[in-house]
Amino acid sequence: DTFDAMGLQENLLRGIYAYGFERPSAIQQRGIVPFCKGLDVIQQAQSGTGKTATFCSGILQQLDYGLVQCQALVLAPTRELAQQIEKVMRALGDYLGVKVHACVGGTSVREDQRILQAGVHVVVGTPGRVFDMLRRQSLRPDCIKMFVLDEADEMLSRGFKDQIYDIFQLLPGKIQVGVFSATMPPEALEITRKFMNKPVRILV
Ligand code: AMP
Repeated sequence: DTFDAMGLQENLLRGIYAYGFERPSAIQQRGIVPFCKGLDVIQQAQSGTGKTATFCSGILQQLDYGLVQCQALVLAPTRELAQQIEKVMRALGDYLGVKVHACVGGTSVREDQRILQAGVHVVVGTPGRVFDMLRRQSLRPDCIKMFVLDEADEMLSRGFKDQIYDIFQLLPGKIQVGVFSATMPPEALEITRKFMNKPVRILV
């Protein structure tokens, strides 16, 4: 089992190897290909399993780099995690020329607006700031075709349920959804039932 056998773009493979990964972890072996096919995926996995590179690779593989519009949105429960994901996405997508921005609380709203205005392919953020950017129309949802909830259980336990639902309402109807969660409490299952279409379930 190798990254080479996954049918990934050459420049994505280069980014993966340059980052220092040699072989896919179990979750990557099972999750990257379905995600790249555009399927909805639920991955029940702890952090430390390589979930970040799973959805980053799936997103990077499917972006249209000629279109500098937000096409993928990733939500995470904390600022630190969102910024960590931003770094991984940028590193893996280095040879693809991906433009990523982290929208998190505690930073300048004007700066976020300026960067979004200039154009990005991917936004990673915490629910509050992302919803704020959508509400101000600084983040345009029209071209978003991939939506990932990372540490969904943690976001729900931090009280982000309403904001996650509000964000879903503003996104285009037919989008690919990925849910990553260590546990599947009823509120997380409700999200998968409401917003996902025949999801592939992967338990690691
Ligand atoms: P994550 O579960 O995404 O937080 O990743 C946990 C750690 O495993 C991070 O330090 C990653 O850099 C590392 N990691 C993820 N995938 C691989 C891989 N295929 N080979 C080596 N290290 C990896």
